[in-house]
Amino acid sequence: MTKGKQERDCRLADIFVCARCGYCCQGETTVSLDQDDQQRMVDRLGMPREVVREKYWRVTGSVVQMRIVDGHCIFYDEKEGCTVHDGRPWRCGQWPLHPSILTDKHNLATIRQSCPGLNQELGYDEFCSILQQLLEEQAKMIF
Ligand code: SF4
Ligand code: SF4
Repeated sequence: MTKGKQERDCRLADIFVCARCGYCCQGETTVSLDQDDQQRMVDRLGMPREVVREKYWRVTGSVVQMRIVDGHCIFYDEKEGCTVHDGRPWRCGQWPLHPSILTDKHNLATIRQSCPGLNQELGYDEFCSILQQLLEEQAKMIF
């Protein structure tokens, strides 16, 4: 692991360590998949697109979402967590460090209530300072 990656992981751990509770994968709806998400998932599953669509997706008009089974995303497993981790939609990867936290402290309070992995103690300004830095670094890595 590079020094930069280590430092980034440490900063990330200051604000978020996933508790693997699975709350974000439960409920009667899931996030929608954009075109890139769909292709990444097809590649990760190594199945023909039509099979993935039939087996795992709920398609409503132009909206593609993952199917819900027993009140959770079809890919969620109680023991393993997300079983399509590398092929999950980008919104799943972004959660719970949503950029909207930076613009309104109420958003942080709301997300904290639904995600026990977020640091619950850190003050808003300190939290945002770390998050801002992480998001800027992430943007540099992507573009
Ligand atoms: S794709 Fe994975 S992370 Fe996203 S909701 Fe389903 S199980 Fe959870
Ligand atoms: S709700 Fe938060 S802590 Fe729980 S699995 Fe999802 S991201 Fe991890």
